Parts: sequence; C-alpha cells; structure tokens
Amino acid sequence: MPLEDQGGPTGGPLRGERTGVDERLLLGFRFACRPDCGLCCYASPAVAPEERGALLQLKPPPLLDAAEAPFATIRQRGDGGACGLLRGARCRGHSVRPFPCRIFPVHAYLGERIQLSLVLSCPGLELDAWLRDPGSRAPPEGLESERRAVADDLASPRSQGTIARARRDRADLLERARRRTGFSPLEDLRRRFLERPPLPGSRAAEPDGPAESDGLDGLPLYFDERRGVVALASVPGGTELLALRESGGVADRLGTYPDPTEVPPLEGAGRDSLARYLRYVVERDAVLDALLLEWVAHRPPLSLEEFLAEEVRHVGTLVLRRATVRARADGEPGGPLGAREVARGIRATDAEVLDRIVPGRLL
Ligand code: SF4
Ligand code: SF4
Repeated sequence: MPLEDQGGPTGGPLRGERTGVDERLLLGFRFACRPDCGLCCYASPAVAPEERGALLQLKPPPLLDAAEAPFATIRQRGDGGACGLLRGARCRGHSVRPFPCRIFPVHAYLGERIQLSLVLSCPGLELDAWLRDPGSRAPPEGLESERRAVADDLASPRSQGTIARARRDRADLLERARRRTGFSPLEDLRRRFLERPPLPGSRAAEPDGPAESDGLDGLPLYFDERRGVVALASVPGGTELLALRESGGVADRLGTYPDPTEVPPLEGAGRDSLARYLRYVVERDAVLDALLLEWVAHRPPLSLEEFLAEEVRHVGTLVLRRATVRARADGEPGGPLGAREVARGIRATDAEVLDRIVPGRLL
C-alpha cells in the first residue's frame, strides 16, 4: 500500500510463522512499495468496526459507504477514481489505514488452509527475478509488516469465527461439486496442472474485455513507469489505454492498439515465464476454489478438469494479449514475446485473476 512518508516496515519477529499460515507462495519474492504508484488505491477498502473511529478522526474524515453494515468501505472518488484518502499517490491516513491496505500486496485466503499469496500486479514486487528462479526458497524480503498484520488479525476472536464459517462454506461447496458428473478432486487436478500447465493454444477468439461504457471502475489497471496508472478498455478491434485521474474520470487517452488476432508466439524464456506464472495461478487455493464455485454454479457441459484447463488457458491468453498491447504502446518491434514482455502482461492481468468471488473467505 502506498506510503505516507518514507517510513517502512517496523521489523521484529514474525508471528505468522507460528499461526499455521501457509506462506510458501511468498518465498523468493522481494517487495518495496513505490512512492509514485498508488495502483492498489483505485479501490474501496473494507473498514472493520474497530478501525472506523481512528479513520473518522482524520481531518477531513473519509466518506464511508455501507456505514451501517458490519464492514463499511471507504468511498472511491468519481468513476474509476482512487480511494478518498489518496492524495498525490500517497495515503493521507497511512497510520490508520484499514486491514486490506495494511496487508497489500499479500492476499490472504481462508479455504482448505490459510494460504498467503501475492498480487503480482503490484509493481513493488520484483517479478523478473522471481520468474527467473520461481523455485527459490529464500524468505520473502520487505513483507514483514504485511505478514505481521495477517498474524495479528488471525489472533483476534473475530478471525476464529471467520475461519470456522469459511471451512463450513467450502465443505458445502465441495459436497455439491462431488455430486456433479465430471468432478475430480482438486488436489489431483492441481498435481497434473503443475506437471503440465495448460498453455494457450493458437485460438484467436477470446471474449473482449470490459469497455469504457461499462464503467471505469471495472477496467483492468496496471502501473506504467512513464504514464502512471493506466486502465485498459476494449474498443472495436483493439485496446485503448486510458490514464485515470485520481479524482475519477479519464485524464488522458494514450492511444488505441490493435489486439493480436492470434495467440502471440513466445521465445523460449517467454514460454518458461508464462508456464511458471500459470503454475503460480494453479497453486493458489483462492483461484482453484473460485473456479470450482463457477463450475458448480454455471454447470458448463465440461468436466471439472476441462473447465479448469480452459480457464487457465484463458488467463495465459490474457497475459499474452496484454503483453502484446503493452509492447505496441511502448513502440517496440513485433515478434515473439520474451520474459520481460510476459512479465508486463502478468502485471496487467494478475489482480483480475484474483478478483473473483470465492467460496471461502478473504481475511
Ligand atoms: S500497488 Fe504495490 S507499489 Fe503500488 S502503491 Fe500499492 S503496494 Fe505500493
Ligand atoms: S486507505 Fe490509504 S492505503 Fe487504503 S486504499 Fe485508501 S489511500 Fe490507499
């Protein structure tokens, strides 16, 4: 989450290591929040009842939506605008920011277990180094305060109730899934996909993404070193890049770039990077559980294995399409995509991959 000043994590022992939290998907990553970014603040973070008082002491206080509900949210400004507390890519309520902001880019999911993973769209994560060595067992660097915030939350009585409800909801979903023809246990599927991740084929046809007319709020975002926070909007035959105002609305139209008509070719290193990323996707309980929920709810005429494979291929295709659009927007010559281009496609896609309705709960 964006800094208020240059103060970083506070150091000290990590309690997450003693709370049964699965942190394997954090290994090998390094993180340092970028002071010029603010990408994760184009959101309406949830505010727990005990966090409300301190936030409302701010001058002026932020506007809260659903203030009567158990969890209020900080109101976002305008269409597609940032959280009401963001000022010049800095949080003016940093010391009292709510829990989802204190743990970002960590993503904490309660499903089969308490699993932490990372939102790889965050430009403060060193993605290129991790893609080169995804098997690194090195402890994560720069995520101490985020891990500690998760551990503190888990120690609260409310979390115990949340964990129990999440387990119950997930058990119910699994029971419904088992009754459907074509069900295979998720762990078997995960093992197979990790051995051989379903890569995109040569299909050209992919559903278009959201258009500006659907509302700027729902567009995929990424952080561009030169242009700041950029939204991607589908237009006929291509993708338009829109620079968003912090206060909401479009600040600048940066150009329209044709979408590839076929799945773009990959260099060897690009192919390895995409396969590594798709393995990371299927290792996340939140993603597999969300897809299981979609399979049960929409009852497509596919076995669970076929459905998951289609969805993972779709994620790969989105990464490559966005990698191509970003390369074109930067005036780079066409040709097979390498590791660097794939990493930029991942940054423009991963938040959307995690932003699904899940049967368990986010902490
Ligand atoms: S997206 Fe990442 S780098 Fe950007 S403000 Fe949020 S935490 Fe910091
Ligand atoms: S409260 Fe602060 S850190 Fe959280 S979304 Fe708003 S501006 Fe960003």
